[in-house]
Amino acid sequence: MYSIQSQEYDVIIMGAGFAGVCQARHLLLNIPNIKVALIDSRPEERTDKDLKIGESTVEVSAMFLYRELGLYEYLIENQVPKQGLNFHWPKDQIKTDSISDYYSLWSLLNPPMPSFQIERAKLERDLLKMNKDLGAVFYKGQVVDVNLTPTDAVNSVIVKLESGQIELKAKHLIDATGRRGGAGACRHRRRCPPGITDNQSPRTARQWADRS
Ligand SMILES: Cc1cc2nc3c(=O)[nH]c(=O)nc-3n(C[C@H](O)[C@H](O)[C@H](O)COP(=O)(O)OP(=O)(O)OC[C@H]3O[C@@H](n4cnc5c(N)ncnc54)[C@H](O)[C@@H]3O)c2cc1C
Repeated sequence: MYSIQSQEYDVIIMGAGFAGVCQARHLLLNIPNIKVALIDSRPEERTDKDLKIGESTVEVSAMFLYRELGLYEYLIENQVPKQGLNFHWPKDQIKTDSISDYYSLWSLLNPPMPSFQIERAKLERDLLKMNKDLGAVFYKGQVVDVNLTPTDAVNSVIVKLESGQIELKAKHLIDATGRRGGAGACRHRRRCPPGITDNQSPRTARQWADRS
């Protein structure tokens, strides 16, 4: 008879993009011995396909990264500080071959609150590694089904790995699969808690809190 392996965690985070890896680190830093599983269909190592252009933080998200997630040294060492706006205009409109053909103007002082130009593929890869070093378990696979249970019962997630399927169980599931994410996409197959049809299923923390 066909049976699938099953593992239980305190929290399962579906998606190891920016939101997933930050959420995992926040939990691991704040709750001692918490068992966290992270699932993503992308491999741990990022490739050129993962490069995203133009990603930067505003000050408030930078503050979350360096204060709440303790990443100040990491950001300074591994990402590029945002220095505010630079202005460049040509000395002569018909000669614009190199930067020396332009007048340039920029601030000589760093802004009082840092922000960063982020290389996202690198940030995600590095945070995933830091999470694993703190004890998180990473599954490279695709979430193909989510089974939500009522009240405080344990929920389960079916993950398609290269080697077959695995069932992961946890009281807390976090959908960090992004706007086009698979957990959202497999919503039509999601089994909702009794008494709640799919189009009534809770979308916000308040709805979740009120449903039991
Ligand atoms: C051109 C562009 C420029 C942007 N610039 C900025 C910027 O400068 N600053 C800024 O703050 N934001 C910027 N954004 C927005 C930012 O990229 C998003 O807000 C951010 O990526 C959302 O992160 P996330 O972790 O929620 O989702 P994602 O980064 O999409 O991560 C979702 C993860 O879930 C995984 N996944 C999905 N489905 C499944 C499944 N079924 N099973 C397993 N894994 C799954 C995916 O592989 C992915 O790794 C920009 C966006 C774009 C498109």
